[in-house]
Amino acid sequence: MDGICGGEKVRRFFAEKADIPVMRLTGDERRHLADVLRARQGERIIVCPNDGYDYVYEITAFDKSSVTLSFVSREFNLTEPSLFLCAYIALLKGDKTEFEVQKLTELGVRRIVPFISERTVCRSEKSVRLRRAAHEASKQCGRAVIPDITETATFEEVLAELRGYDSVVFSYEGAYGNGKRINEVINGGEKRVALVTGPEGGFSDGEVARAADEGFCGVTLGKRILRAETAAIAGAAVIMQLCGEWK
Ligand code: SAM
Repeated sequence: MDGICGGEKVRRFFAEKADIPVMRLTGDERRHLADVLRARQGERIIVCPNDGYDYVYEITAFDKSSVTLSFVSREFNLTEPSLFLCAYIALLKGDKTEFEVQKLTELGVRRIVPFISERTVCRSEKSVRLRRAAHEASKQCGRAVIPDITETATFEEVLAELRGYDSVVFSYEGAYGNGKRINEVINGGEKRVALVTGPEGGFSDGEVARAADEGFCGVTLGKRILRAETAAIAGAAVIMQLCGEWK
C-alpha cells in the first residue's frame, strides 16, 4: 500500500529529508518516478524522511535531472507501531534472511540485527540486500519508517544488547514443556521488546546456557519445530498482538 490521498493511490518515497516548500528528487528516485511509474505533473506523492510523518507533495515539474515537488501537507503516519520490537535473527542460507526481513518489516519491527552463531551456515555479509528488502517492504506496506538493519553481530554482542529491553523472547525449541510460554514473558505493557531466533541448526547447548546465565531463559513457540524464518515471523506477530498493536 503506497498511500491513499483523497481516495487515489499515492506513491511513497523515502528520502533523507523533506524540504518545504519545494523539493527536488534526483537520481534513482527521479528515474523511478518519471520512467518506471510514468508519474505526471499534478500528481501527488508521499515523501517519508523516516520521522514517522508522511509529507504529501504535488509534482510541479519534470526535467532531465530532477522532479520538482511542491509541499501540500504533513500527516502523522498511523501505520507505525508504538512498540519498539527488535528482531535478532541468525543469518540463514539463500534468500531466507531477505524473506524474513521483508515479513518482519511488514509486521512493524523497528530494528533488525542479523547475527552469526555457532551453527550459522551462512557467514556472508548481506546488509545491502537486507536494507533493500526492508526499503521495498516499507514502501509496499505504507510505513513511514524503514527498519534499521544493523551490521552482522556476534552471539555475544547480541546477549550484551538484550539487557536494554523490557522483555526478551529468546526462542528455543527445547523450551517446550519446561521453559517459558511467550505470554508469560510478554505482559503487554512493554515499550521495548527483543525477539531472538536461531539458525537452521538451532542454538548450541552452550549458547542456550550462556543466554540462561544472562537471565534469558528459552521461550517456546509451540510443540513443533519451526523453520527459523517461521519462528521469527510468528514470534513477531504474537508479540505485536500481545502488546496491543493489532487492536
Ligand atoms: N534445532 C532445531 C531442530 O532440531 O531441527 C532447528 C532449529 S529451528 C529450525 C531455528 C530456530 O527457530 C531455533 O533456533 C529457535 O530460535 C526457533 N524455533 C523453532 N521452533 C521453535 C519452537 N517450537 N519453540 C521455540 N523456538 C523455536
